Amino acid sequence: MSLDEELIALRREIHRRPELAGEERETAGLVAEQLRAAGLEVTTGVGGHGVVAVLDGSADGPTIAYRADMDAVDAMKNVLPFPRTGRVYDEGFASTVPGVAHLCGHDLHTAIGVGIARRLAASSDQVRGRLVFVFQPAEEPLQGARAMLDTGVVQRLAPREFYALHTSPFPTGTIAVSPGHGLPGLDQLRILLPADADAATVEALGTVRFPQNVTEYHTGFHALLDPEAGASPQESASVAAWPEPGPAVGVLLRIWPQEHLPDVRAQVERLAATAGGHVASQGAPFPALVNSPELSTAAGDYLSTTMGPESVLRARASWPYNCEDFALFTHEAPGALLYLGVANTDAGIDGAPHSPEFAADERAIGHGVRAMTGLLTHRLTTGRRGPHYGVRHGE
Ligand SMILES: [Zn+2]
Repeated sequence: MSLDEELIALRREIHRRPELAGEERETAGLVAEQLRAAGLEVTTGVGGHGVVAVLDGSADGPTIAYRADMDAVDAMKNVLPFPRTGRVYDEGFASTVPGVAHLCGHDLHTAIGVGIARRLAASSDQVRGRLVFVFQPAEEPLQGARAMLDTGVVQRLAPREFYALHTSPFPTGTIAVSPGHGLPGLDQLRILLPADADAATVEALGTVRFPQNVTEYHTGFHALLDPEAGASPQESASVAAWPEPGPAVGVLLRIWPQEHLPDVRAQVERLAATAGGHVASQGAPFPALVNSPELSTAAGDYLSTTMGPESVLRARASWPYNCEDFALFTHEAPGALLYLGVANTDAGIDGAPHSPEFAADERAIGHGVRAMTGLLTHRLTTGRRGPHYGVRHGE
């Protein structure tokens, strides 16, 4: 069996037995087993079921980290309310756990992370420095990165750069960089009202409307590539509000750029005050993911050279509807999250994470492994200690 075939088999095994945030015991076990067998130094139980694996190359050099996330989605709660088509693409390896499914592609992310580590371990003579693989739990509730960082394990390894992939509705065979853009932060509020809650008034503060079906999702995601999108500064407020008993209104604010959050929050507070109510915060806001402009641009240039310019896309705006726990790792070292295309529209594979029938073209697994294996190897020999990158840790 080729490595690609083995990774597809691993992905299907994880897909069949998806585990929710905080419960990734079996998934983490599979990861640790494969990485140990490949000769990496593996630490388990990092911030829950997190796994950290270290691969030392044949020569001294910098340390670069790669993150993959492992948790599945609560298919009852955390799915876009699209009309279902009733089609099943993963016949033969569908989830066997009621209400739980890999609808965000983290099963692919995990298989790709294992594949990168195995490929690089098999050619460690080409690796000039140290690679750190971070398999995080609990990405969906934005808790696993904090839990892993609270252990100090990642900081002690002091990576200079951080990379990650996320499945996307771009075509399989493509990969997108997003210099200076990324994903919004999240502020979760509750408005307590003395009278009837008016969720619609709060929701009207939003400047973007959630896509209503897969076609709109694809159109919206592809619009990020529009050169016009980069011509003017992007501002977006995605506001979800719903009535709660109390009476109260639950509110999720996703704002780009993050600097605009206090302004939108003030607008919510004014609305609440007008209705004689007040706003209760549900914890500190979660930060936006801002991809390093330098690392994202360099990644795009490198991949364009090695994989062909047609396979590299450039997103010039941020997707306004999802947040990403990877943001916290980029506070430790500059980082870049790349969008891995997994759609195959001819075959009816939507590649739209969190849509009710999310499906991914499994050829993207091998593609992602080859792209990132090359990029990480290249980065170890590039830009060492350059003032260009600003942040260094440790040493
Ligand atoms: Zn995800």
